[in-house]
Amino acid sequence: MVLKKSKKENEKPKVENEPDCGRHVFSAKETRELQSQLLVWYDKNARTLPWRDIARTEVDPNTRGYSVLVSEIMLQQTQVATVIDYFNKWIKKWPGTKELSKATLEQINQAWSGLGYYSRGRRLWEGARYVEETLDGSMPQTRVELLKLPGVGKYTASAVASIAFGAQVGVVDGNVLRVLSRLRGIGAPIDNQKVVDHMWKLADDIVDKERPGDFNQAMMELGATVCTPKAPSCVTCPVKSMCAARALNAASIVDIEDTCVKCGKSELKMEEGVLNYPRKGKKTASRDERTLVLALSHPNSSGDLVYAVQQRPASGLLANLWELLTVPGEGKQAADDQDEAGKQQKEVKDEKEVISTHLETLKVAYSQLAKKGEVNHVFSHINMTYVLYTATMDKKYEGLELMTLDNFLVKGTSTAMKKVVKLLQSSSSDSCSMKRKSLTAATAADPKQRSINSFFKSVKKE
Ligand code: SF4
Repeated sequence: MVLKKSKKENEKPKVENEPDCGRHVFSAKETRELQSQLLVWYDKNARTLPWRDIARTEVDPNTRGYSVLVSEIMLQQTQVATVIDYFNKWIKKWPGTKELSKATLEQINQAWSGLGYYSRGRRLWEGARYVEETLDGSMPQTRVELLKLPGVGKYTASAVASIAFGAQVGVVDGNVLRVLSRLRGIGAPIDNQKVVDHMWKLADDIVDKERPGDFNQAMMELGATVCTPKAPSCVTCPVKSMCAARALNAASIVDIEDTCVKCGKSELKMEEGVLNYPRKGKKTASRDERTLVLALSHPNSSGDLVYAVQQRPASGLLANLWELLTVPGEGKQAADDQDEAGKQQKEVKDEKEVISTHLETLKVAYSQLAKKGEVNHVFSHINMTYVLYTATMDKKYEGLELMTLDNFLVKGTSTAMKKVVKLLQSSSSDSCSMKRKSLTAATAADPKQRSINSFFKSVKKE
């Protein structure tokens, strides 16, 4: 017997206030299919990850919520493979908000070193202190309450609430945006706020009410492993039967009467298939910047070189991290009308002037100012060139914090500054070997010198 489908089953909810073809949502029947197909697939294919084990097995809600929060904050802008090791070490060191709240900011920056976007570590620490000082150690459990923690946005609050506490809320991250835009054929730019709002409504509507955390993780897992940005594996996709992007054809594109704001048909290209989705608006170009770094050294009482270091301001790029002296004001690039050699000489002269002025302001007497090279580092919106100079302090200055490079590297510094230190170390070893070479050459050329060296050798032997 064939059951007659009720009209309500296939009815799509209406989206209000704007022209809409009604195809960018899921009917109740499609929602059920999506939930069941996705969860069956997830149960077979979910990657084993340490924070998932904790979310599944930990009985203490505070430890569970805290662990999921740590993983979610670390995973923002960072690959899963990179996060695993950092997560394990972090949880071992600070298993809960109580322990984390007692750490110092310097310890936080050390533990976060190399993970990038350093303000995330500081915010996590501030959040632990908030939970301890204001909530008596109880982790908030709802999206609304979690949003009150520093550095926690709607995505993180929803992920923690659903994964750790079973709250019936959806999540929208880059993976979910891609999957939803393909499944529902949403071709309007996904960075448009109305489209983002629509995606959140979709995510909240379709989340499985019994297993919200697993359903959300399944959506993200599908985006990360199957419905990938450039090479989606549609053949193996568990939800291909309801994918609008896969069903895209010439007839659906050439529908010039369609005025739906979410279809984005004018931009669709047949030959691109599912890769038409998601579409982004125009990107803001990254800007180029140059920073002058001065490795200003002085020998300590044991004869080791110590360098002047400083802590960055508490807000902005690489907040609170330690660095070698950076000199305010950009290194200038010489005008284009000069030849290459002339340009380089002019740049070095200008840069030396900028550094000299800065050191005069600090009242530091120095010598042997020399350029050692440049290193590039790309931040999310800045292509940064660090221009490295070295100089020797004539005497120790009280106003400057000094430390060896080994101590500096474990103090909590950025990946970019580590690259600068690597350049410094390689340029120092180059100059040492050059000095050794020139000494050997001088010795070979000058018999007098050879006899002096032999004298020292013979003294040493005695
Ligand atoms: Fe993504 Fe292809 Fe699956 Fe559609 S069928 S959701 S495009 S992997």
